[in-house]
Amino acid sequence: MKLSELGEFGLIERIQARFRTPDGVTGIGDDCAVLPQSTGRDTLVSSDMLIEGTHFLRKDIPSYDLGWKSAAVNLSDIAAMGGKPTGTFLSLALPANLDTDWIDAFMHGYADISERFGTPLLGGDTTASPDRICINVTVLGECPYARARLRSNAQKGDVICVTGSLGDSAAGLKAILKGVERDMDVQRLIDRHYRPVPRVAEGEELRLNLGVHAMMDISDGLASDLQHILDASEMDAQIDATAIPLSLALKRICAAQGWDPLALAVSGGEDYELLFTCTPQTEALLALPHFVIGRITDRAHGPARLTWRGTSSPLSPGFDHFKKGK
Ligand code: ADP
Ligand code: MG
Repeated sequence: MKLSELGEFGLIERIQARFRTPDGVTGIGDDCAVLPQSTGRDTLVSSDMLIEGTHFLRKDIPSYDLGWKSAAVNLSDIAAMGGKPTGTFLSLALPANLDTDWIDAFMHGYADISERFGTPLLGGDTTASPDRICINVTVLGECPYARARLRSNAQKGDVICVTGSLGDSAAGLKAILKGVERDMDVQRLIDRHYRPVPRVAEGEELRLNLGVHAMMDISDGLASDLQHILDASEMDAQIDATAIPLSLALKRICAAQGWDPLALAVSGGEDYELLFTCTPQTEALLALPHFVIGRITDRAHGPARLTWRGTSSPLSPGFDHFKKGK
C-alpha cells in the first residue's frame, strides 16, 4: 500500500499502535502530550515541522515571518491545552548556500515572538540539508495537574465556540499564490497567514473555567479539527454555517475575487483560533470574545458525525499531507 492511501492520520495510528502510553500520561492524539510531574503540575510538550515546498515557499515568505510562524504554530498547541508555554527547542536543516541575512531575519522573528510570550530558546539541532529548508520546533509548557483541556472531553449539550474569525489565513495564502494586489484588506489577510498570534492568554483564561470541556486549536481547518474532538469524545455535532465568524476583509476579498468565504472558513486551515466546547451556562458568562457556532449532540450510531445547517454548498474536508487535500 502507498502512503497516499493510508493518509496522514492513518499513518499516525499505525505508528501509535506500536507503543503503550504510560498510565496517567496523555500521549499521541492531542495537541500536546501531558506529563504529570511530582511538583503537582503537568508538563506539556508538542512538536511541529515546517518544510520548504510543503508549508512555505522561500521566494514568498519573508524569513522574519517564517521565524515568527515557526514558533507561533507550536505555541498555539500549548494554548490549545490551556497551558502556559515555558520554552522552545529549534532544529534547523539548511542548505549551505543560504544567505546569512536570511537566517538573521528568521531568528529576529523567532526571537520577537519568543520575547512576547516569555519563552526562551533552550536548545535544538543544526544540520545541513541538500536543498530544502526544514524547521522543527518543540515547545514546552505547563499547567496545574489534570487541568489541561483535552480533545476527548466534549459533553452532550455543550455549545461549540471559536475565539475569532476563520478563513483569513487561507484567503491570505490564496491571495499570495494568485498574486492579488495588496491593498489594506489583502495585507491584513496575508499577515494572518504569515504572522499568526497564538491564543495563549485566551487558552489560559478558558482553562480556569471548569465549564469549558474540550479544546483544540484550528490548524488544519474547522471541519477536520472539529472531527477530531468528535472522534475523541465519541459525540456528534451540529454546526450552523451562518454563525461562523468571517472578517470584513475576508468578505471583501471573496466578493472581489469570486471566492467562497465559507469554504475558506471551513476547510482552510492555519487560523490558530481556539475551538472549544462548554456548557451553555458557562458560555453565557464568558467575558472573553468568542462566537457560538454549534452544539454537541449525543452520538447516534457509527462513527462520530458532523452535520451542517445553513449551507447547501459541499464542504470539503481539511488538509491531509498525503492524500489529495483542498
Ligand atoms: P496538531 O495539528 O495539533 O499539531 P497533528 O495533527 O500534527 O497535531 O498530530 C496529531 C497527533 O499525532 C499529535 O498528538 C501528535 O503529537 C501525534 N503525531 C503526529 N506525528 C507523529 C509521529 N510521527 N509520531 C508520534 N506521534 C505523532
Ligand atoms: Mg493543534
